[in-house]
Amino acid sequence: MSKTTKICSIVGCDKPSKRSFATTRIAESVSKSGLRVKDARSRKTYLCADHWKIVKKVFKKETKAERMRWKP
Ligand SMILES: [Zn+2]
Repeated sequence: MSKTTKICSIVGCDKPSKRSFATTRIAESVSKSGLRVKDARSRKTYLCADHWKIVKKVFKKETKAERMRWKP
């Protein structure tokens, strides 16, 4: 495995990451998905394809709600 390959940050998962996020941005969506990260203090959160699929549903809903709030 190459040095640049990051492993999924979710507890119990050791798949290669597909997406990475600033932890501050994704942490809430991860916990709302019922998942936990191995190191909550890490600045970056890495998600494998499977976990991104789960977190994405919540994340998209959250960002949509964020946009709605800014509507006049
Ligand atoms: Zn994973």
